[in-house]
Amino acid sequence: MQEKDICVIHGVGEERKKAFHRLGVFTTQDLLFFFPREYEDRSIISKIGQLNEEKTVGICATVFSAVRKTHGKSGMTLCQTTIYDDTGKLDVLWFNNPYVVNHLKVGQTYLFYGRIVYHLTGWQMQSPIYEAEGKQEQIGGIVPVYPLTVGLSQKQVSNAVREILPQDYKETLPESIRQEQKLCEINYALSQMHFPKTFADLEIARRRMVFEELFYYQMCLLHMKEESKSTKAHILADDGYFTEFCSRLPFPLTGAQKRAVLEILEDLKSGKSMNRLVQGDVGSGKTAVAAAAIYVTAKNGCQSALMAPTEILVNQHYESFCEMFQNSGIRVEKITGSMSAKTKKEIAERLIRGEIDLLIGTHAIIQKNIIFSNLAFVITDEQHRFGVAQRAALGAKGIGVHKLVMSATPIPRTLSLILCGDLDISIIDELPPGRKNVETFAVGESMRARINRFIVKNVEEGRQVYIVCPLIEESEKMDLENAKRLYETLSQTVLKNYHAALLHGAMKQKEKDEIMTDFMAGKIDVMISTTVIEVGVNVKNANLMIVENAERFGLSQLHQLRGRVGRGEFQSYCILFDELQNEQSRARLKVLCDTNDGFLISEADLKMRGSGEILGKRQSGQNEFRVADIFSDMAILKEVQGLVFKIKKGEFILSKDDEIMIQNRVEYMLSKDIAFN
Ligand code: ADP
Ligand code: MG
Repeated sequence: MQEKDICVIHGVGEERKKAFHRLGVFTTQDLLFFFPREYEDRSIISKIGQLNEEKTVGICATVFSAVRKTHGKSGMTLCQTTIYDDTGKLDVLWFNNPYVVNHLKVGQTYLFYGRIVYHLTGWQMQSPIYEAEGKQEQIGGIVPVYPLTVGLSQKQVSNAVREILPQDYKETLPESIRQEQKLCEINYALSQMHFPKTFADLEIARRRMVFEELFYYQMCLLHMKEESKSTKAHILADDGYFTEFCSRLPFPLTGAQKRAVLEILEDLKSGKSMNRLVQGDVGSGKTAVAAAAIYVTAKNGCQSALMAPTEILVNQHYESFCEMFQNSGIRVEKITGSMSAKTKKEIAERLIRGEIDLLIGTHAIIQKNIIFSNLAFVITDEQHRFGVAQRAALGAKGIGVHKLVMSATPIPRTLSLILCGDLDISIIDELPPGRKNVETFAVGESMRARINRFIVKNVEEGRQVYIVCPLIEESEKMDLENAKRLYETLSQTVLKNYHAALLHGAMKQKEKDEIMTDFMAGKIDVMISTTVIEVGVNVKNANLMIVENAERFGLSQLHQLRGRVGRGEFQSYCILFDELQNEQSRARLKVLCDTNDGFLISEADLKMRGSGEILGKRQSGQNEFRVADIFSDMAILKEVQGLVFKIKKGEFILSKDDEIMIQNRVEYMLSKDIAFN
């Protein structure tokens, strides 16, 4: 299959194209690998005569009367009809969907799928979706549920996928490996990932996709390691620069920070390329560790590059580095996607002339025209937000470059050893002194009024508050509705006299940045957001984090969110609204109430999910995998590692063709993701 722009798909014009871009889908190939986040079982069709409780059902029925259109009190359009099957009749009602009138024909039979409610005199179906009998696209089978964004519906995405789903996609895993591991072939896997016939078929398809994803991930890491081994690295000596750097800091480094810096400095002078991961809990001070190494690099006359996932983080880093390096002669510059072409060009020119010692940027930094004159050290911050390809691209900006990645998502050591196979690891397991634990409470809806008063109390004392609504809903649209409603309710009642703002995923980056900037400047008291608030954002004045529907988040993700508060001198709090209030959700959230240690939390996350309780299959923003969930797919991860190990040791022999196939795939993957922005 040729990789084409998604515009080639029927019905994808400018608007829909933009919506697809927001989902990270740029080409037909991206779409093919854009998998549903869950599946709904709509295979069971009920009979009208048997309806006896409020629930969502499928019904196969004939339209009895022409659809009547009326107007409700609030200007709402109501469409109404009656349908029947061989067991009885049922009233059907749609709100604000006038198109129904033109679509449904009297005497024709359709599959309806919607919620049954008891209304005044009897059962009624409300706002069902429907399709002609026999079509079985949306109803009557297992239906994919895709992650959505404003401007795209489930139907539009699944129709687009149906249009491009090929029969003859070229196999990407060598047959010898598929046989050894009993993995199905790619075309079957792709079709079943999108439109599974049964859940058993889905499991077979998913196992293959997960295996493949983890396998190539490991092969990419291996490839990168081999490459960096074969080149000589810059030798950067300390010569007392580290001590000099420390004396510039307004605080002494913690023992753990010092240890990490020394491990890095050891690598920098070794003559071999460093490949190191710094893992440290939120707020453990990873930036200062990176800064120490950058300082030494600059004093050796070499350049450093720091890549961060968002403009806000880039700006924040830029400010703190300018402060740390004041009057040191080290020249700091930044580059982001939103800068004018002219500014970017000027920076590129100064960079190549060697007039910049540290360049901080979003992935704008890996664009082709950004060329360093003497790059020796690259850092990727919040590495889980970047693919392995982007990491590789940054390293490829220089020869014999030392690479550091910083992650604030602590993962259990067993996992990091597998996932970060190419990296040495430094762990910062100590927080700067004087940090107060963020007091955490899991509460139910009955506490709402008290919590609202608590918000006001903190705002009255001059503090700021975050409220986060979950991302994992039936659709992003609904999430937005929920967050909007919460925002409107609060700003008309509890927060009437204060400044509240809404931040959501469908906003333009510029709007988001403006709101974040206002929040950082203290102009906003309470920020309600649908998106996970920028990782790494540092607002010392914020002391209260409230998470709605906390039961839907992964524990590590909640820990990340909690890390947005407790950054300053104020006692901070995290309130987790648990809507489920069942045994499982209570046990999970209790972990967060009991500890502030990210490593412990992530161990617990692994254990609880490993025991078969899979929550949302994918938790947004958690990792860089499309299908695999490193926690619940631990078993497959181990199989992959076993295979990779055998290949490395020559115990599993690949044919020449297989080797080429793998090599091509690795190169393709490492070249992907680089071209955007
Ligand atoms: P993270 O590890 O989450 O990236 P940062 O590097 O942003 O954390 O540091 C969080 C805050 O802690 C910053 O305001 C930083 O200035 C401060 N900090 C870092 N190291 C120390 C230290 N040793 N003592 C006191 N404060 C520190
Ligand atoms: Mg950070």
